[in-house]
Amino acid sequence: MNLRNIAIIAHVDHGKTTLVDRLLQQSGAFRENQRLVERVMDSNDLEKERGITIMAKATSIAWKDTRINIVDTPGHADFGGEVERILSMVDGAIVLVDASEGPMPQTKFVVGKALKIGLRPIVAVNKVDKPDARVTEVVNEVFDLFAALDATDEQLDFPILYGSAKQGWMAASPDGPQEGMAPLFDLVLKHVPAPRIEDGGFRMLGTLLEANPYLGRLITGRVFAGSVKPNQSVKVLDRKGNVVEQGRVSKILAFRGIERAPIEEAEAGDIVAIAGLEKFNVADTLCAPEVVEPLQAQPIDPPTLSMTF
Ligand code: GDP
Repeated sequence: MNLRNIAIIAHVDHGKTTLVDRLLQQSGAFRENQRLVERVMDSNDLEKERGITIMAKATSIAWKDTRINIVDTPGHADFGGEVERILSMVDGAIVLVDASEGPMPQTKFVVGKALKIGLRPIVAVNKVDKPDARVTEVVNEVFDLFAALDATDEQLDFPILYGSAKQGWMAASPDGPQEGMAPLFDLVLKHVPAPRIEDGGFRMLGTLLEANPYLGRLITGRVFAGSVKPNQSVKVLDRKGNVVEQGRVSKILAFRGIERAPIEEAEAGDIVAIAGLEKFNVADTLCAPEVVEPLQAQPIDPPTLSMTF
């Protein structure tokens, strides 16, 4: 199956949760009569209270023959490189902006990081149904923000969609045509590159850590090279390449809709969660025993859309 990995970047209240709900509803992730029992991206109250991302969060949807992994990004704050690590999992981003508020200063940090690692964002102007929407000005403000953040010409030439997450549509123009979220799905498939795959043995960069009540220590990250199966022997390298731990993978979970399902093999390009290692931490590399070089979530200058390892 084809894959796309994207991040959604938005200021609080600009509609990220609503958008993801609609994407889930309109994609192949759910059977038709299956209703969302909880909203996806902000199900954690503590997080809502603090307005920050504190746990592993990704959603996966199917559109045509492609699976799209969507990862949440913290609204603004940064904790020791977390934003870089999250963005290093993806090859594209949707910058979602409220049509009346426009881009907010707090999103500058994350947008700046996304541009710096060479992502070419899609801009989605949300809430065009609001009476005080000022669509043209807001697009200009986004352009100015990107320019102030040293975007390349390619990044400044961003594709734009307009719509209302609440009403469940995005379109090339603010007044339709209204084909639901199809234009957004199609644009993601067209504009975002397929995951870049590195040569060599299995390597995954640890990005988000959580304590799972059943599986113990669970690390989410992107597989950059090779593949991995449950029970496989692996080792953990820290950023300097020191061996932190040798062990076995006990479980691999892939994102499916708002849930996670155990899988028998994770391949390069995918974002998965892995259990079984006791010391594997964020920024560490989980890899095949013969690998010596750790992965680094290290931004390099655009336009080269790759990272140095
Ligand atoms: P988040 O904080 O970015 O996740 O934002 P939410 O998805 O929780 O949305 C914040 C508020 O904006 C909620 O009250 C939504 O119902 C509302 N909202 C989201 N999308 C739209 C939209 O397209 N139009 C209007 N009018 N309101 C919206």
